[in-house]
Amino acid sequence: LLLAYEPAKRLARMRVSLERSLVNARMIYEVLDTPIRQADKGDAKPLDLKAGTILFDKVSFHYETNAQNEAQSVLTNLSFEALAGQTTALVGPSGGGKSTIIALLQRFYDPASGTITIDGQDLTGLQVASVRSAIAYVSQQPILFQGTVIENLRYARPEATDAEIEEACRAAQAHDFIMQLAEGYDTLLGENGANLSGGQRQRLSIARAIVRNAPILLLDEATSALDNESEAQVQQALDTLMQGRTSIVVAHRLSTIEKADRIVVIDKGRAVDAGTHDELMKAGGIYARLQSVAGGKGLPGPSKRRKRTAK
Ligand code: ADP
Ligand code: MG
Repeated sequence: LLLAYEPAKRLARMRVSLERSLVNARMIYEVLDTPIRQADKGDAKPLDLKAGTILFDKVSFHYETNAQNEAQSVLTNLSFEALAGQTTALVGPSGGGKSTIIALLQRFYDPASGTITIDGQDLTGLQVASVRSAIAYVSQQPILFQGTVIENLRYARPEATDAEIEEACRAAQAHDFIMQLAEGYDTLLGENGANLSGGQRQRLSIARAIVRNAPILLLDEATSALDNESEAQVQQALDTLMQGRTSIVVAHRLSTIEKADRIVVIDKGRAVDAGTHDELMKAGGIYARLQSVAGGKGLPGPSKRRKRTAK
């Protein structure tokens, strides 16, 4: 099925050169309603990726002024470290700035003050393309472009083989629904995957992250559109993917958060607390309160908490 599709292969070859000129990235990023690319400085260097340690150091940020012409602070003196090869979970109330942190890391925007570094290199001095090529990103609202399923997946890594792409789709629980589309992997997707459900788009996006095979993984509510059963299956694929990579994960489900090496609590644009699940539960701050709310909604957690308090 995948092997004999010449047009896709031609396109894939074309994409290799497009990728270099960043046209491809722009194609994706321009779909987003964001000011997209920070221009490279004249002396911008490519990222020299080593272990993949990410550091936010006293980062402040605000979006462009709103209708009332006031620039509201979104991140304030925010500092945290995501250690190389580990999973760092960002948790906290909605609107606290978690997605903004993920956006800054991809340089959709630059901080107003403070620095973000990867392996000690300030992002603002780096070539945007080199930073993005080190990152795989799965968002709550995945961006798909008009093109076939396989083109949307191969975009992640132009040299990926058909077999690798299919393997990724199986891991992301996307293969079966793709095979049920009129022309399988060659099915043309409408603008932003209009002919797919939210869960299907998210599975494609996760498959794309697997294909990408990048050292840094950013997951922003990556499984939010999935029902519990598919979430559990896809989470396995994500767990495997996270191993050995620097991962920053925005998640609500306790089962995902608990597994993180470190949890950073984000509230009103500040990093207000950090630690492991047990440490933060003991501390009894915002994190503990958030978990008791989650428990009340029937998300996994209450039974585990009982066990802990019984100890
Ligand atoms: P979280 O992901 O923790 O829910 P966000 O980073 O999405 O928080 O949002 C932080 C704050 O920034 C919110 O007040 C939100 O309304 C605002 N915000 C987010 N994206 C934009 C944007 N593109 N333009 C203007 N304000 C934004
Ligand atoms: Mg968000």
